[in-house]
Parts: sequence; structure tokens; C-alpha cells
Amino acid sequence: MTERHDVVVVGGGLLGCLTAWMAARDGARVLLVDKDQVNQHASGQNAGSLHFQLEYRMVEDGEEAARVAAEAMPLHLDAAAMWARLESEIGESLGVRQTGGLMVAENADQVGMLEFKAELERSWGLDVRTLDRSELDTVAPYLSQDIVAANLSALEGKADARVAAPAVGRAAVAAGASVCARSRLVGARRAPAGWDVTLEETDRTGRVRTRTVRTAAVVIAAGVWTTGLGRVFGAELPTVPLALTMTVTSKVPAFIPHLVQHAGARLSLKQSLDKTVLIGGGWPARLMRDADGVPEFDRKHQLIPQSIAGNARAAVNAVPVLDRVPAVRSWVGATTVAPDQLPLVGAVKDAPGVFVATGGSAFTLGPSFARVLTGLLAGRSPDIDLAPYDPARFVEGSTP
Ligand SMILES: Cc1cc2nc3c(=O)[nH]c(=O)nc-3n(C[C@H](O)[C@H](O)[C@H](O)COP(=O)(O)OP(=O)(O)OC[C@H]3O[C@@H](n4cnc5c(N)ncnc54)[C@H](O)[C@@H]3O)c2cc1C
Repeated sequence: MTERHDVVVVGGGLLGCLTAWMAARDGARVLLVDKDQVNQHASGQNAGSLHFQLEYRMVEDGEEAARVAAEAMPLHLDAAAMWARLESEIGESLGVRQTGGLMVAENADQVGMLEFKAELERSWGLDVRTLDRSELDTVAPYLSQDIVAANLSALEGKADARVAAPAVGRAAVAAGASVCARSRLVGARRAPAGWDVTLEETDRTGRVRTRTVRTAAVVIAAGVWTTGLGRVFGAELPTVPLALTMTVTSKVPAFIPHLVQHAGARLSLKQSLDKTVLIGGGWPARLMRDADGVPEFDRKHQLIPQSIAGNARAAVNAVPVLDRVPAVRSWVGATTVAPDQLPLVGAVKDAPGVFVATGGSAFTLGPSFARVLTGLLAGRSPDIDLAPYDPARFVEGSTP
């Protein structure tokens, strides 16, 4: 007899684990599959920033682009509230600290942009204020004297990317979900009231077996693999893959309580609860591609030395003490954005019962993506207008 589920969640990153947990809590029979291990990819490799202000990449292309990116603010506000209660709901530490985030500026142009951005964010309901240098001397004395102002959002902070998804995965299992690692979704066929999905499962000896399970719904929570998985369901889900650089320093006595980002440079940094400083902010790494230039996401992407150096320079410029703190490890992770910087969230066009979420800050926004998806799975009307994030918006012939 065919195995049956209410929902198959594809992807054991933070988003897939959160969706599996919430759907199982709703009473659904949930199967979460990952072709590798839970938290092995972007969700376990990222900077763990919980940032609700618009990022540098969203404002660097000017005010109009920033206005479009700000349309995701309802998801930001929802996620900020959800992160604040997630640890108590999960019953485990996720390393969450929402002790405030600063976006810093070094010159008048950047200050002008911060002021524009703060007004835009406030118009969507995010409480952001611009601090001048004398306020920064009190609030963030570790910042370089070259920093002349900063936007402060009290909701921002960090979570520990190494522990968050596995903890949520355990909560999903406790709520009744089944989790299968080394289980790759390779095919899908329409079935009465759902889909028959084919899984290729590799056991510990390397032996591969194929099984087909029937499910009413499928959630694609597959990060950079999203576009490829869309094709399995006959859907176009355009995403832009990015390979990014991260660096971690040795431990240093706690001195940075904030998330620090830059208004005019690629930089995010924070001090983790283990006292290391995590430095990132969007410096590129080399995405591996085949001979035709097609990205190969199952290969290990490569560090670019200039990115490591540039990222370190940006960090030391903002926080000069870091000049004396050794870096101990750099690595690459791969993630997706959509061409308009807004996420893809919602039902997949022409694939009934299939839902997707990806794009941009899917660690920060994971809880709100998962909440919205779980609502759709249960047939609840979304309490956030999902139209701006419609996965079909880039598909020719779709009306917004
Ligand atoms: C270096 C770096 C720093 C970042 N910093 C931040 C940050 O500070 N804050 C923030 O909000 N975001 C950040 N991001 C983005 C963030 O990491 C991602 O948006 C988020 O983790 C995506 O989570 P996910 O669960 O959607 O995907 P992933 O964590 O990538 O998980 C997808 C999973 O799907 C599985 N999968 C794929 N195809 C299949 C298949 N066919 N069958 C079964 N399983 C499959 C994969 O094995 C993988 O485990 C960063 C990203 C990178 C790379």
C-alpha cells in the first residue's frame, strides 16, 4: 500500500524544520526529507543575523529599489515577534538575543540614506531611530570614530545558526513529524487529491533505494535547489544563487552587544554567545558551475581571498579593536535572492497543493515564512498580504 502523508516538506534547513514543526502542531501527518543532513547547508552556514532593517544590498540601488524591498516589512515585523517567543515554544535554546542592531554610516551621503531608510521603515511600522555620534559614544563605544551616525532597531539581534534548525527539527519530531535524512526528492506525479513523490534514499552503506509516497501537499523549502525542484513539479521558480563568504574570529571578552551592519559597505558582524566574532555581509565566493556554466549546488563552492581580505578590512574599519583579534576560519555558503529582492512565498502556480518559500533573509524571516505556509496548508486565509511575494510574479503572462 502506498505510504500517505498530508504534507511532504522538502528541505531540512531552518525553514523546512519550522514548517514541519508548525504543520505537525496543526495535526498534519508530516514527512520532512533532506537529501543530505538537517542544517548542512545555508541554514547552518549563515551569519545568524536577525535583521529587520533593510540591508545594504536593498538600498545600494537607490530609493525606488528600497521602496520595493520595504514591501517585505510585514514579514519582518512578524518574524521579529516570532523570534522573541520561539525558544520558549521550542523548549530549547536557539542562541536568540534581540539586543538591538545598528546600521552605521561614515559620511553625509550614507547618513542621508539612513534617514530616508528610517522614515520608510517607520512608515511600515518598524521602530528605527538615527543616533548621532555623541549617542554612539554611549551606546556603542566600540565603533570607530569614523562612524558618524547609525540607525538603531531595538528588535534586531542574532540566533545561533549551528543549533537553531536541529532544535526545531527535534521539536517537529516531538510534535509527530517524521524526518528522513539522505532522502532526495527526485520525481513527482499528480495523483488523486495530491502528488506521488519519488524519494531516492541512501543508507549508511551507500546503497540507494527508491520509494514513492503519496501526499496531499508539498512544501519546497530547498534554498538554492528551489528552481530545480520547481521543474520537478512543472513550475518556473526563478531564483538568483549567490555564494557568500563568512569568517569567524577567536574568542574575545564580550564587547559587542549589537548586530552591526553598514549603510555603505558589505558588512555584518556580531559577537556570538561563545564570544567569537562572526563577520560577513555579502562578500562573494565562487559558485561552482559545470562546463555549460550551470551552477552545481551539490559541489563545494570556493573562497575568494580578496573577499576574505575585503570583509576583514570592512570589519576593522567599523570596529578597530578587531585588528588585534585573529580570524580562525572562513567558509562559503550558498543562498538565493529574487531579482526584485523580495522573497518568493506562497502557492506554486499550476501545481495544486505545492507551496514554496525562499529568497533573501530566509533565516531571519524563516519563522514568518513557515507560519504563512502552514496557514496555507491548513486552508487558513493569510493575515499578511502575500501578493508582493507571489512566486509566479516573474513568469511571463502572470498578472500581479
Ligand atoms: C554565508 C551566508 C550568510 C547568510 N547570512 C544570513 C543572515 O545573517 N541572516 C539571514 O536572515 N539570512 C542569511 N543568509 C541566508 C540564509 O542562510 C538562508 O536564506 C536560509 O538559511 C535558507 O534556509 P532554507 O531552509 O530555505 O535553505 P537551506 O538551509 O539551504 O536548506 C535547504 C535544504 O534543502 C535540501 N534539499 C535540496 N534539494 C532537495 C531534494 N531534491 N530533496 C531533498 N532535500 C533537498 C538541501 O539538502 C538543504 O538541506 C545567509 C546565507 C549565507 C550563504
